[in-house]
Amino acid sequence: MTGSPLLLDLTDRLVVVVGGGGVATRRVEGLVAGGARLTVIAPNISPAITALGVRSQVRAFVDGDLDGAWLVVAATDDPEVNAAVAAEAERRRIFCVRADDATGGTARVPSVLRSGGLTLSVNAGDDPRRAVAVRNAIAAALDTGLLGARPARPAAAGSVALVGGGPGDPELITVRGRRLVFEADVVVTDRLAPRALLEQLDASVEIIDCGKSAHRHNLTQDEINAVIVERALAGKRVVRLKGGDPFVFGRGGEEVAACLSAGVDVSVVPGITSAVAAPAAAGIPVTHRGLAADFAVVSGHRDPGRAEAGWNWAELAVGPATLIVLMGVDTLAGIVEELISHGRPPHTPAAAIHRATLPGQQVVRAPLSGLVEAVASARLTAPAVVVIGEVAALGW
Ligand code: SAH
Repeated sequence: MTGSPLLLDLTDRLVVVVGGGGVATRRVEGLVAGGARLTVIAPNISPAITALGVRSQVRAFVDGDLDGAWLVVAATDDPEVNAAVAAEAERRRIFCVRADDATGGTARVPSVLRSGGLTLSVNAGDDPRRAVAVRNAIAAALDTGLLGARPARPAAAGSVALVGGGPGDPELITVRGRRLVFEADVVVTDRLAPRALLEQLDASVEIIDCGKSAHRHNLTQDEINAVIVERALAGKRVVRLKGGDPFVFGRGGEEVAACLSAGVDVSVVPGITSAVAAPAAAGIPVTHRGLAADFAVVSGHRDPGRAEAGWNWAELAVGPATLIVLMGVDTLAGIVEELISHGRPPHTPAAAIHRATLPGQQVVRAPLSGLVEAVASARLTAPAVVVIGEVAALGW
C-alpha cells in the first residue's frame, strides 16, 4: 500500500476495536489518548482495557457491530475474524486497521513522535521495527539539535540560557546545550566557544560575537550583560554560548545576576571545563590513584607579582598535587618562579596544552623549571592550559 498520510481527528468519534489481547490493548490506549469514543468487542478483554473504562462487548464480532463507526481496528489473534472485520468495513466504507497482517486492511497506524508542537509519523511498509528505529533516530536528532527544530513563532517570553560549550570540539557540548543553541533566536558567543556549531545555524539567527580573549574584547562584560537582558526582554530566546563551563572563570555568575535583577528568566547549562578537558586531550588525568588525590584550578590572568592577585603561593606550591593554570601563558614565568621558590620541586613534571580538542592542538611537556623555555621555543600561545604535578608525566 502506498498510502496517503493523514492526521485523523477522532475526538468523540466512534472507533470499534475487535480484539481484547495485548495488541488491542496498545491500540485502545493510543485511541483513548486521542480522545476517540471506543467500543471494544472480544470474548476475552484484558484487565488493562477494562481499567480504561471504555465501552466493551464481551462476545464474538458479528455483522452490524460497525454501525456508526468512523474507524475499525481488527486486532484479534484469529486471522479469519480479522479478515471478516476488514471485509465488513470495506462494504461499509469504513477505514480498517488490521493489526495482524501488515498488508491487509485499508489504514495503517504509523510510528508517532510528538515533540514541541511537531507530530511526526513514520511508516516503513511491512517493517514496523524499522519505522520505530527511524522514529527514535529522529527523536534523538531533535533532542540534540542536529535537526533544526526552531519554532518559527516567537517564544511566549524571552529567556537567557548560559550554555557551557566545552573546550571547543563541537562534539563536547552537552545534549541540552546543543539543543538550546539550535533553538535560539540570538546566540551571544565567546571566542573560545565551539564556534563550529554556529556555522550550522539558520541565517535568521542573530549571532553576536563578543570576541572574548585576553587581548581583545569586542564587547565589555557590561555590554554583554546589557545585550543578553535587552534581547530577552524583547521576547527572544537568548543563548549565551561560553567556552568550557560558564561558572569556571567565565563570569557566568555576573550574567546570571544581571538577568535576575532585570527579571529575565535565566538558566545555566554546565559545560566541560578546559581545566579538565585540556589535560585529558593530552592523556593527562588530573587525579590518579597513588599520584594525585586533589587538584586546584587557578587563573594566571593577573600579574602574580602583585599582592591583589590573591594567590597563596606557599599553599599552592606544596598543597594540591595537581595545579592547573588557565589564562597563564603570558604570566607563566612569574608563576613558575613563585611555585619553585615556595617549595614545588623544579623537576615536577609539567605540560601546556594549546587549543585542546581543536585543530592545531599543541602539547608541550617539560619539568617545571624548563617549562617557560619549552613553551617559548615551541611558540605556544594562548589559549592554553598548564598542568603542573606528577600526573603531567602521564599520557601521550
Ligand atoms: N570557562 C572556561 C574558561 C574561560 S577562561 C572553561 O571552563 O574552560 C579562558 C581560558 O580557558 C583560556 O585562556 C585557556 O587557559 C583556557 N581554555 C579554554 N579553552 C581552551 C582550549 N580549547 N585549549 C586550551 N585552553 C583553553
